[in-house]
Amino acid sequence: MRKIECDVAVIGAGPAGLAAAAKAKEQGAQRVLLMDRDRELGGILNQCIHNGFGLQLLAEEMTGPQYAEYFIEEAKKAGVEMMLHTMVLNVGADRKIHAINEHEGLMEIQAKAVVMAMGARERNRGGVVIPGARPAGVFTAGAAQRYVNMEGYMPGKRVVVLGSGDIGLIMARRMTWEGAKVEAVLEIMPFPSGLTRNIVQCLEDQGIPLYLGHTVTRVHGKDRVEAVTVSKVGADFRPIPGTEWVIPCDTLLLSIGLIPENELTLEAGGKLDSVTNGPVVDDEMSTSIPGVFACGNVVHIHDLVDNVTREAWAAGEGAARFVTGRQPSGQTISTAAGEGIRYVVPQIVHTDNLEARDVRLSMRVTAPADRVRVEAVLEDEVVYSKAERVVRPAEMVALTIPKGTVSREAAQAAAAAGHKLVVRVTKRDTAAQGGNKS
Ligand SMILES: Cc1cc2nc3c(=O)[nH]c(=O)nc-3n(C[C@H](O)[C@H](O)[C@H](O)COP(=O)(O)OP(=O)(O)OC[C@H]3O[C@@H](n4cnc5c(N)ncnc54)[C@H](O)[C@@H]3O)c2cc1C
Repeated sequence: MRKIECDVAVIGAGPAGLAAAAKAKEQGAQRVLLMDRDRELGGILNQCIHNGFGLQLLAEEMTGPQYAEYFIEEAKKAGVEMMLHTMVLNVGADRKIHAINEHEGLMEIQAKAVVMAMGARERNRGGVVIPGARPAGVFTAGAAQRYVNMEGYMPGKRVVVLGSGDIGLIMARRMTWEGAKVEAVLEIMPFPSGLTRNIVQCLEDQGIPLYLGHTVTRVHGKDRVEAVTVSKVGADFRPIPGTEWVIPCDTLLLSIGLIPENELTLEAGGKLDSVTNGPVVDDEMSTSIPGVFACGNVVHIHDLVDNVTREAWAAGEGAARFVTGRQPSGQTISTAAGEGIRYVVPQIVHTDNLEARDVRLSMRVTAPADRVRVEAVLEDEVVYSKAERVVRPAEMVALTIPKGTVSREAAQAAAAAGHKLVVRVTKRDTAAQGGNKS
């Protein structure tokens, strides 16, 4: 068995793994090894041939493959070693990795630090209960995207999409452009799950109806889907009898959520957050296992790739600081989701970092709201806040606390007294914009 030693091993070469690997190298790690089970670098971006990537970070509107190409070049320039067709089988708490590919067979890789960047997989029909037959023609939206954009197959001609997540919206438009008739997009929640820009560009501009508060209650067809029954749902999300109607179609696309791929993290003994289904991380993106870092969709589901890259830079830097002995002291304070917030990442912040660098908190709200303030609160005092015109569960909110806003001593004293750094949303009554200390 081939044995390899490296400073940092990165698992997954999507946008998260690519940026983390390049940053680790740039920040002083010597040998950085990037592995992916796929035949190409770039992860899910390779099948996202629509534009809309990189607007924030690169100030350019790119397709997914163009965005991936930019960061592939960065990783190559940095001197990252890359291994494709390589499946990582397990990661030990001692950062010993077993991986396999057809050229080398089984390999043992001893890394000083590991970055988990395995992305997410789609929830499939098993994740929702839809009565009816099991005919061909039911696909996840991402699988259909791969068929159409990479393999050159059209999954069907008359389509219903269940779920208004971004992948479903993008596929509704793609299938329309490829000549299919998209009859409807159905969303069980009273608000859309995808970005507003995708609702406008992918549905409204294409004349595709969106039914909020609706779901599929039966799939019809023996060998192939022939129709679906659709019902309105009540406040308890149960179908309301008497509201159903039938939509003839040959294809049902499921866009009902992504699940972070954390089998490796769990096996290594990493602690997961029950809301995000990703590892609990600190602001260096370190998991609960010393020397094991994580970033991207494996930590929590991102809507914008720019945020994946930002988080990956933090993980790559964290890994490099770990291997070069530059990590912060062990003093930390936990974050917590307060009023109106579903989750906050990172769940832990180093008090040294609060004093020495800007600390970025990413979160999702529980319900849409407009004219709000997003506030960070320590011991009942608002330490930092920013105004938001509108917040929606589909769109990640970031709050970057400028360095020194909270002193190391204040954070340590609060943590010692059992307090957390709480993030909450409050309704605002002034039109003030921008971040400020209140
Ligand atoms: C359909 C769709 C449309 C999107 N549209 C936009 C958009 O318009 N604009 C935007 O900014 N963002 C968009 N996004 C979001 C953004 O692209 C994703 O959030 C981002 O790609 C996630 O990056 P990642 O590196 O975490 O995961 P991925 O890109 O999924 O990469 C994970 C990689 O890990 C590898 N891997 C997993 N397990 C193993 C293992 N055991 N061994 C080896 N390798 C492994 C996988 O093969 C994969 O290559 C879209 C996402 C999707 C799915």
